[in-house]
Amino acid sequence: MHDQDALRYHRYPRPGKIEVTPTKPCMSQADLSLAYTPGVGVPCLRIKDDPDASFDYTSRGNLVGVITNGTAVLGLGHIGPLAGKPVMEGKAVLFKRFADLDVFDIEVNTTDPDEFIRTVELLEPTFGGINLEDIKAPDCFYIEDELSRRMSIPVFHDDQHGTAIISAAALLNACELTGRRLETTRVVINGAGAAAMACAKRYIQLGVAPDNLLMVDSKGVIFQGRQAGMNPYKAAFARQTSLRTLEQAARGADVLVGLSVKGAFTPELLAVMAPKPIVFALANPDPEIDYHQAKAARPDAIVATGRSDYPNQVNNVLGFPFIFRGALDVRATTINEQMKQAAVLALAKLAREDVPDSVLRAYGGQPIHFGPEYLIPKPLDSRVLLAVTPAVARAAVESGVARVGLPEPAAYLQALEA
Ligand code: NAP
Ligand code: MG
Repeated sequence: MHDQDALRYHRYPRPGKIEVTPTKPCMSQADLSLAYTPGVGVPCLRIKDDPDASFDYTSRGNLVGVITNGTAVLGLGHIGPLAGKPVMEGKAVLFKRFADLDVFDIEVNTTDPDEFIRTVELLEPTFGGINLEDIKAPDCFYIEDELSRRMSIPVFHDDQHGTAIISAAALLNACELTGRRLETTRVVINGAGAAAMACAKRYIQLGVAPDNLLMVDSKGVIFQGRQAGMNPYKAAFARQTSLRTLEQAARGADVLVGLSVKGAFTPELLAVMAPKPIVFALANPDPEIDYHQAKAARPDAIVATGRSDYPNQVNNVLGFPFIFRGALDVRATTINEQMKQAAVLALAKLAREDVPDSVLRAYGGQPIHFGPEYLIPKPLDSRVLLAVTPAVARAAVESGVARVGLPEPAAYLQALEA
């Protein structure tokens, strides 16, 4: 891919990647008086009497706000909200392509967390859900917690939870393949930022024992009593340990997850891990260790990266479109732990099933079977929609955060496929 291709793609035939398309006819005088005044006044008054009627008479229930302050955009860093806009439009494209959800991308020009929170909070009438995007740690934790508390629609910071959910599905299946029980599996997470924090919490939810999970940042192991480079979020994962370096932490570890920077893992580091180690090198666009280099160092390893050109791509697009689709379809007030867990289990289960020809064709026709090189579904597998979405919707209903009941299952699957 050349820079010129990317610029041309974004510029022509018209600038940007999204537009607004009316869903109702507006050709005749009669249409006009329905679309706008006087007809529009009727649903307005219905909604005034019953706010939930907004889901029946407006597009709110299919509309996600992709909202950023531009402080941690992709691997580009703090480039600001305006420069981040192509990414937010891109997220809109993915929501539409994978789950037929509409997006308004909102770029907010402030680095003050409280000003950002207040701005987003005030937008609640517009949206069915809020996808926070590319907000730097640790601000992103406070912002998401506070907005979730204040708003009665789902608020989901994808850079945290998307990665956590998809890598958790991969972890579950990697443990299955290597005969490990999560309860006794020793996990080291390199990185203590947005993605790492959410992964640590998710893995513990999944069954990893808190004492078996060590977190390492740019200053080394996060241990109890450490002063340098700490924050309250890191402190929650501080362990009583004499280990200080990544190398010491990795010795005998079963799982090593990189959510840090390119090149942070060496062949020597992988060499000290337990037999059949599980290595997720997820830094993007370049992993902590190259896939082939990792396999050369440890042929017995199960390796995942964020890259599409190697097996086991941990790609957030396996999660957020379907998690929001399921949440919005039952008008959920939040995306809670049960819904996230349902997404993990649905992804893990789907990977264990036979892969149909339609998916094989999209990936060059090579056979694909559950195993060390296929831990999680492929991003272009259309079955993911049908597996994850109803699971999330069901979890929302069963955990009591849905405003409406579950759609009838067969009809729901048909509607999703349409
Ligand atoms: P972030 O919030 O900026 O966190 C980065 C963390 O990495 C910080 O805690 C930092 O330590 C730590 N770090 C930096 N250099 C390190 C080193 N040499 N050794 C150990 N830790 C080091 O970033 P993020 O949003 O969590 O993302 C982290 C990485 O994961 C990025 O490369 C991102 O592209 C990738 N990612 C991948 C996926 C995927 O699906 N594949 C999804 C999300 C994120 P300090 O706290 O000490 O500064
Ligand atoms: Mg992002």
